[in-house]
Amino acid sequence: METYESLLAAVSVPEGQPVIDPATGEAFAHAPVSTTADLERAIAAAQAAQPAWAALSDDERRAALTAAADEIEANAEALALIIAREQGKPLSGPGARFEVGAVVGWLRATVATQLEPEVVVDDEQAKATIYYRPIGLVGAIGPWNWPAMIATWQFAPALRMGNAVVMKPSEFTPLSVLATALLVNRHLPEGLFTVLAGDRELGEAISSNPAFGKVTFTGSARTGAAIMRASADNLTRLTLELGGNDPGIVLPDVDPKAIAEGLFWGAFINTGQTCAALKRLYVHEDVYDDVVRELAAVAGAMPMGPGSDEQNVLGPLTTEQQFGIVDRLVEDAKARGGRVLVGGEPDRDAPGWFYPATLVDGLDDDADLVKEEQFGPALPILKYSDVDDAIERANRGEAGLGASVWSADPARAREVASRIQSGSVWINSHGTIHPMAPFGGVKGSGYGLEFGVEGLKAMGVPQVIHG
Ligand code: NAD
Repeated sequence: METYESLLAAVSVPEGQPVIDPATGEAFAHAPVSTTADLERAIAAAQAAQPAWAALSDDERRAALTAAADEIEANAEALALIIAREQGKPLSGPGARFEVGAVVGWLRATVATQLEPEVVVDDEQAKATIYYRPIGLVGAIGPWNWPAMIATWQFAPALRMGNAVVMKPSEFTPLSVLATALLVNRHLPEGLFTVLAGDRELGEAISSNPAFGKVTFTGSARTGAAIMRASADNLTRLTLELGGNDPGIVLPDVDPKAIAEGLFWGAFINTGQTCAALKRLYVHEDVYDDVVRELAAVAGAMPMGPGSDEQNVLGPLTTEQQFGIVDRLVEDAKARGGRVLVGGEPDRDAPGWFYPATLVDGLDDDADLVKEEQFGPALPILKYSDVDDAIERANRGEAGLGASVWSADPARAREVASRIQSGSVWINSHGTIHPMAPFGGVKGSGYGLEFGVEGLKAMGVPQVIHG
């Protein structure tokens, strides 16, 4: 069984890219820096390994992925400690141990999901059936917010469908992904799945390389567009899971106390650094004061500190840049007359990138904190009196990843949900993804689906056999 020390030693190097502990702002390890020559070697190894992997039976591939899930489970604490140290999320609550649980959960769900051939025509004249064949080599590029979990969303379905994978994690969180791959690779053929740590140049080299039949990307909209441009000449298939600016709409029939904790975690999970977190909250005027009071009580009571400390449930922001973005948005909100209800005063001289859980109201919809993705612990709360108006405001902007509706009447909530332009809408929760329910964005949040049967289809190429 790996310890934190043994796993860290296996994936870090004495000299390389410094990896920062966001709770201190100091480097705690060094990650390898892969070159384009490493990429060429990884592509060659993947291309050599993939045909035999694709030729295995589906059950054999499922058995390998099950063994990988068991391996992660057996070494869960060591991996959680690396995630907590590198990304900053606390071990406890919906934090680093939860993330490792999701790695295992998504691996097992990927194994459990069955993609059957689909008979689409079957009459006296014709028969046609859709099969999904391996793509070959899949490139995967990931973000820093849920590094191990999102890496699993990418590699698990790709492998299950008979592909090889070359993956590049974020330069801010390479060790979590290298450690995940090290454990998974104990049960896979040599060369089939390689993680290469590197920065955006390596990402560009992957996106523009014709060896990849597909690139799956999770990250910002700007980078998603750059990947489209870089891959256009190769007609590379893409899944683009991009940023969100998820609205929540609270209808007047809610019990404010009952929903406060759900609202809090919807917005502040992973200290707000979650693609489908609640990022602007529209509350009906009849319940406005009560919802704000209850939410402020929850937000003010949540302990924040280093991820390694068991009592914390909120950690630092992962990067200095992200701290700067949140700080700028909240200062701008204050300058526009926004009222800070909780938080809003970070200790800028303290070590690490800690920004307190912050609630702001009194803003117009054109405030940057409302319009932009804050990707951090600062939630704007906005009042509405007419639900049609709230829906129109919720649909403003480029993003269309997630949304939520909060109501005691599920039918009414579903009707409101149907009018929101987003890939997912949750009722009385936010961001509660499920490994069997497809997940993906619309509008500027990208396209393509992950998870479940749709997620497997996205990692194959359809072939229709007539007859
Ligand atoms: P980012 O776009 O800056 O970086 C993501 C990855 O892309 C990194 O590995 C980076 O090295 C690489 N990269 C950067 N430039 C590149 C280029 N030109 N070509 C190829 N690769 C390149 O995003 P981030 O800051 O790491 O992540 C935060 C963003 O990700 C937020 O907008 C968040 O909402 C979004 N996100 C979306 C989802 C989702 O499922 N939709 C999930 C998590 C995060």
